[in-house]
Amino acid sequence: MGYSVAASHAKGKCATDRIFGANGAAVKAALEVGKSYVTNATIGAILDDEEKLSCLPTVEQVYRSLSMNDIIAYAPIAGLPAFLTAAIDLNFADHRPDGYVEAVATSGGSGGIHHTIWNYTELGDTVLTSDWFWGPYRVLCQDMLRKLDTYTLFDEQLNFNLDAFEKKVANLLAVQKSLVVIINSPAHNPTGYSLTDSEWSAVLDVAKRLTKDPNKRLTFLVDVAYIDYAGERNAARSFMSQFSNLPKNILTVFSTSMSKGYTMYGQRVGAMIGLSSDKDVIQEFADINQYTSRATWSNINRGVQQLLATIYEDKNLLAKVDSERALLYQMIRERADLFMNEAKEAKLHMLPYIAGFFLTIPAKNPEAVCAELAKDYIFAVPLAKGIRVAVCAVPKAKMVGFATKMAQAIRITE
Ligand code: PLP
Repeated sequence: MGYSVAASHAKGKCATDRIFGANGAAVKAALEVGKSYVTNATIGAILDDEEKLSCLPTVEQVYRSLSMNDIIAYAPIAGLPAFLTAAIDLNFADHRPDGYVEAVATSGGSGGIHHTIWNYTELGDTVLTSDWFWGPYRVLCQDMLRKLDTYTLFDEQLNFNLDAFEKKVANLLAVQKSLVVIINSPAHNPTGYSLTDSEWSAVLDVAKRLTKDPNKRLTFLVDVAYIDYAGERNAARSFMSQFSNLPKNILTVFSTSMSKGYTMYGQRVGAMIGLSSDKDVIQEFADINQYTSRATWSNINRGVQQLLATIYEDKNLLAKVDSERALLYQMIRERADLFMNEAKEAKLHMLPYIAGFFLTIPAKNPEAVCAELAKDYIFAVPLAKGIRVAVCAVPKAKMVGFATKMAQAIRITE
């Protein structure tokens, strides 16, 4: 490294994003050979069958009807009260757990993840997530001088690996007082997995068992960024009821985002929703996270908070958004089903996809597989142990033959 003036904790940091790198290659290829010959399965946003970024029409209509005042005025740092009410209610639907609840507006789902790591772990602590995980979790941990450790997500039968989870939680709680566990479900990025209600129940049992010592604290960070594409509203949220009445040294934070559910990616609006059986814990949650917002970004986008409040308060608008989103869900489903059926025929081993924007193919040489696919102008994201396919972004017509080519590329490279 050359001459540097950065502080010691900042020196050498550089977020090389594999996803944007792979997307760059796809864009370049499209310029060279024409878009119609290129399959770009790298983008984490919903593109329609014409490969245009989808926007929910009612969301656009409400957005365009916002007053200039709502767009330009500051919002309260904690968030607009009507937005917070809407965010809480939409998060839980009919499955609101018993307990105290508060919400704080955040800069997308990323903001809630940031605050949870910052405020519920000590400097140098290790945060836990599964071995298949969204890369920025590690960047967030490392930037805040924390570490990220992982447990093996799947067992031999491709179910949630409760033993691996339990061992890691036990090991970490043996050496640190507080532990943040990030679980991205339903519709996990990158696999598309969703924990079943009984898997959640087992996870909560483990947490209760391992936090009997009142000096130990555990925070579940439930990353629900993709929950609105995980199936029927209440079915996708039924697991939430189980978080009722957990011991007071277990805090739950739901990190919600308007990026995908309302197709407002770039507007940077989300909410972190804290749940505890203890009133003081939730008062503290509201206080300290608002403080961190003040210290990080001050307040967030007001207009899009108002947009959610407007939609939430009008049953017709809400029903319209739901039905428009159901069409996008259906579109993604069909693409994923096509891939999965073909994968079965091609004997391509894939991780269990339940719902969501992505599916994953495990591979020994992900980079080599992606390079092989790129020869056919197919672009996907190489992960450490597999290849991520963004079914949210690939038109159905371009899904035809994809799994077969993936199977060939894997055979050639292993
Ligand atoms: N969590 C996961 C797993 C994600 O994939 C994303 C977005 O890609 C987010 C959270 C948060 O996104 P945003 O900060 O745009 O709301």
